[in-house]
Amino acid sequence: MDLLIRNIGQLIQIQDPGVRMVAGEAMSRLNLIHDAWLSVDNGRISGFGPMSRAPQPADQEIDASGCVVMPGFCDPHTHLVYAGSREQEFVDRIRGLSYEEIARRGGGILNSAKRLRSTTEDELFRDASLRLREIASQGTAAVEIKSGYGLDTESELKMLRVIRRLKDTSAITIKSTFLGAHAVPPEFRNDQDGYVSCIIEEMLPAVAASRLADYVDVFCDEGFFTTGNTARILEAAAAFGLRPKIHANELACSGGIQIGVQHRALSVDHLEWTGQAEIDALKGSDTMPTLLPGAALFLGLKSPPARLMISSGLPVALGSDFNPGSSPAGNMMLMMALACIRLKMLPEEAIQAATINAAYAMGVEDELGSITIGKRASLIITKPVPGYAYLPYAYGSNLIGQMLLNGQLIEIQ
Ligand SMILES: [Zn+2]
Repeated sequence: MDLLIRNIGQLIQIQDPGVRMVAGEAMSRLNLIHDAWLSVDNGRISGFGPMSRAPQPADQEIDASGCVVMPGFCDPHTHLVYAGSREQEFVDRIRGLSYEEIARRGGGILNSAKRLRSTTEDELFRDASLRLREIASQGTAAVEIKSGYGLDTESELKMLRVIRRLKDTSAITIKSTFLGAHAVPPEFRNDQDGYVSCIIEEMLPAVAASRLADYVDVFCDEGFFTTGNTARILEAAAAFGLRPKIHANELACSGGIQIGVQHRALSVDHLEWTGQAEIDALKGSDTMPTLLPGAALFLGLKSPPARLMISSGLPVALGSDFNPGSSPAGNMMLMMALACIRLKMLPEEAIQAATINAAYAMGVEDELGSITIGKRASLIITKPVPGYAYLPYAYGSNLIGQMLLNGQLIEIQ
């Protein structure tokens, strides 16, 4: 045995092998063992159970002293490769400008695109590495990262190469998503159709040939890409074997959810504007509704109907949307707190949404997202807390005591 963690107050989110997600009413039931042990071999969970039946002492041991041990978070939606920050727009918004008005003035995504194009790959890699280290310290074990600030073929490939370097050098599990259709770049101003043709004819073949992307994304919403153009991109991407994870229904009932489901999207994300028709479309599909409460908080958007989704039998996942414009935070413990406070999700539901369901939403549920023998030992050991409900409750505290990635303790910042 490589490592034994003893005296775990609550070992939470235990799942049988083969459980890929948790939906509906079952989200409120969290499997746990009080006063538990867990063993690690070759970077993976090799056993667990109650302390009354603990194994013999191992060479390396951690005394969890009654703390909570849980799977590391999966964050299925981020844009954490970016150049510069956008606090000026933050101030503009405080002064009364809307997200759309800021976008019209050349702010927003196009602001980030301008900066990214003139930033070297090494600089992007260095800054993103620091952000990865920060979120690992906050309990994140897996993260999806999108391109989408390049908006031309070479700059999009540059972003995807940076994500590849992060995959090769970080202990965090990473998935990459090609988001050429994040915004229409200045070269195609007032010509969305022309830019979409460029994505289909030039960018997608280059991205597919480079094998740098795991998924494809489109910002399908009012003021961004139409459902018609979204469908064109998703059909072209399907020919290259790229499954969609799309931005949908953040700003309006845009039809994005239905287009995503029709194209077997792995996830549809944001979903502030979700009604019964959208919920009906999601029912019985393989598509994970993914909520991003950090962006909704930061932009002052209305909340998606998480309670109605869960009572309708749907699963729900959580992501941070870590990006410089609308959610400059990748702290998943905070996202769980926002899900409880603003979306009225129970702590048990928020934990399911940030672990197993988030793992599903980025296609890593076989490896991460639950306490299951054989999965990666990427685990959070909390600071002393009375129990797991304290985690979203004490929303301003840093409650990560120790963090393991693939069985190795990492340095907490
Ligand atoms: Zn996003």
